Amino acid sequence: MQEDNFFQKGKRQQLVRLLAQEGISDKRVLEVMAELPRHFFVNTTYADHAYDNKPLPIDKNQTISQPYTVAFQTQLLSVEQGDKILEIGTGSGYQAAVLLKLGAKVYSIERHKVLFDNTKQLFDKLGLKVHLFYGDGFKGQPLFAPFDKILITAAAPTVPDELLKQLKVGGVLVVPIDNGKSQTMTSFKKINDTNFEVKKHGQFSFVPMLKGKE
Ligand code: SAH
Repeated sequence: MQEDNFFQKGKRQQLVRLLAQEGISDKRVLEVMAELPRHFFVNTTYADHAYDNKPLPIDKNQTISQPYTVAFQTQLLSVEQGDKILEIGTGSGYQAAVLLKLGAKVYSIERHKVLFDNTKQLFDKLGLKVHLFYGDGFKGQPLFAPFDKILITAAAPTVPDELLKQLKVGGVLVVPIDNGKSQTMTSFKKINDTNFEVKKHGQFSFVPMLKGKE
């Protein structure tokens, strides 16, 4: 089992204070991020930087999102106990673990087999019960739909129609939509089967959401 010492706990507290100063106001999101060891989810090469407010490299040229971005996207979801949430882009598993610790039932899809395998192994070791799938997130998970919330953690060219279909009425989908230079964080609240309340929440930077699996 990986260790979590006072030094790491202290750095985590500092990071969470910074996130609060930068405008993250959801107390439960901050609490969970203060509890969950991010250094378990990063490559040991970068363990010393696990509590910097920065994205870090993971396998296959992908990244674990910046802590501020994780906090921001999670806050937009307004997670409630028992929410059924679909995440696209498992990556390191950190975001999925944050959602799980908030009391959600988490389903997460990853298109890279290596990342899927590594994260599955890590979750088994840590006893985190997330439903992980190896596949193309553009297709969602129709067998488990509909979802209360859907979170896309890669830059999408447009909002995937199939995912809007798999969202419950009243549910929210959060997606960074590519505009060429960066991505506009966008939320879609489902009013009924054909109408959505769309809101924009500023610019972010993500790795691309790609079709198919590798
Ligand atoms: N949520 C992750 C962020 C990882 S970066 C974390 O907390 O670490 C985005 C991830 O999305 C990458 O791992 C990338 O491989 C994956 N991805 C990109 N397009 C995808 C798709 N169509 N389906 C599933 N995963 C995808």
